[in-house]
Amino acid sequence: MPSVAVPTTYEPVIGLEVHVQLLTASKIFCSCSTRFGAPPNTNVCPVCLGMPGALPVLNRKAVEFATLAAMALNCRINEISIFARKNYFYPDLPKGYQISQYDKPLAEHGFIDVGSDKKRIGITRVHLEEDAGKSLHEGFPDSDEKTAIDLNRTGVPLIEIVSEPDIATPDEAYEYLTRLKEIILYTGVSDCNMEEGSLRCDANVSVRPRGQKELGTKAEIKNVNSFRFIREALVYEIARQVEVIESGGKVVQETRLYNSTEGKTYSMRSKEQAHDYRYFPEPDLLPLVVDEKWKAEIVKTLPELPEARRARFVKVYGITEYDAQVLTVSKSLADQFEAAAKAAKNPKRVANLVQGELMGRLKAMGAEIEQSPISMNGVAASADLVESGAISGKMLKDLYDLSFARNKDFPEVYEEEGRPQQSSDTSALEKIIDEVVAANPKQVEQYRAGKKTMLGFFVGQVMKASKGQANPQLINELVTKKLE
Ligand code: ADP
Ligand code: ZN
Ligand code: MG
Repeated sequence: MPSVAVPTTYEPVIGLEVHVQLLTASKIFCSCSTRFGAPPNTNVCPVCLGMPGALPVLNRKAVEFATLAAMALNCRINEISIFARKNYFYPDLPKGYQISQYDKPLAEHGFIDVGSDKKRIGITRVHLEEDAGKSLHEGFPDSDEKTAIDLNRTGVPLIEIVSEPDIATPDEAYEYLTRLKEIILYTGVSDCNMEEGSLRCDANVSVRPRGQKELGTKAEIKNVNSFRFIREALVYEIARQVEVIESGGKVVQETRLYNSTEGKTYSMRSKEQAHDYRYFPEPDLLPLVVDEKWKAEIVKTLPELPEARRARFVKVYGITEYDAQVLTVSKSLADQFEAAAKAAKNPKRVANLVQGELMGRLKAMGAEIEQSPISMNGVAASADLVESGAISGKMLKDLYDLSFARNKDFPEVYEEEGRPQQSSDTSALEKIIDEVVAANPKQVEQYRAGKKTMLGFFVGQVMKASKGQANPQLINELVTKKLE
């Protein structure tokens, strides 16, 4: 991750608001489908269209998913939370208000630990709300003059995760988002797909002279559609605010948009134009009660989270922190590794092969580990063959190359190649050893004079002469016998 220089006399302060779409089959207050990509305005009904008299009914699954996510983010769940109307006028909001939660959210006081020093970033709150519709400005007849509205997304369940202003740099914001997404993916409550809008982030940022206690005036950067762009937008915005202050001006509180082509943020609306949402309790919904019994049921569905899993992998399988990080990027990969590691004779060898043989090949073709032709089971099978001496490290490399060339898993290629075995033909090996010994009289003398480390030299020479096909253990034995 590229590090970004932070001005030394000013201290940036960042707080993030993340919206995550929950993977329920139906919307939060009606039974319409949440499926992405349906023809516009087909997943709608009187409730999500905001017809007079239509009444919302809360989706139980949405509450369970939101609670699970909040638990995974170390929040305290409020037994009673209140839905509230957030009133504003916008064409994609047919009711004229969004049902959200305000002063009594579902959950509070959470945190995520980020970075190698495990800095704790506070999570102020996690609340439930409904999504709005989508304005379409292109891709339909007369779109030069008109805007169309698709209300399929209206009423899709979201959670909003609000961080404390604890984030100190753009890199830390990037790290926080990466960890947040990873945790949510592990819980399975969202696919966190930024392209489809199921994860969206608004970044609040201010600067203050280093050492000053009060926070500076913040700007809010909206609708940035990748973590990388959020980092870039923050870098730009921090520099801009420092410059404003340095040149004697004042940062104004406003909403800004990031243009990723130019790498700049632009003012969208200032505080004077800011909304007064006139929040009030939603009269059509009862207070939401998540009691101890329900919480106990939900907590049972909480999986082991990435952080804990990494620590356990290091401890149980003897792998490095770095390997554990790579092997836990997704729950499914971690599950696959764990099954393979359990089945293998030497789990550490499995991790080493992933790192040493798999990652480099994947990187060369620009692929992610989840697109590897060699599965974790394949890695485990190859590790066992090396472990038992059936194949050499060199043969494994060749077989991996074939796997990648043929886009087939290791066991299949191993069969196709007729289950190759490294040579344990003693007479052929002894012939090679004789040659090597004859060709290196000086080294033989050193060995016999007591320099036992020369053994490695001879084994290496024999290995080279046998083109990596010979069993190292056997060479070791035979060379020792010959030299003694
Ligand atoms: P608003 O009332 O404008 O929505 P909030 O107090 O609800 O502001 O905070 C929204 C987000 O902005 C939170 O993530 C919070 O941590 C962050 N935040 C609040 N004040 C500042 C500040 N001065 N600088 C940077 N971030 C801030
Ligand atoms: Zn509906
Ligand atoms: Mg707020």
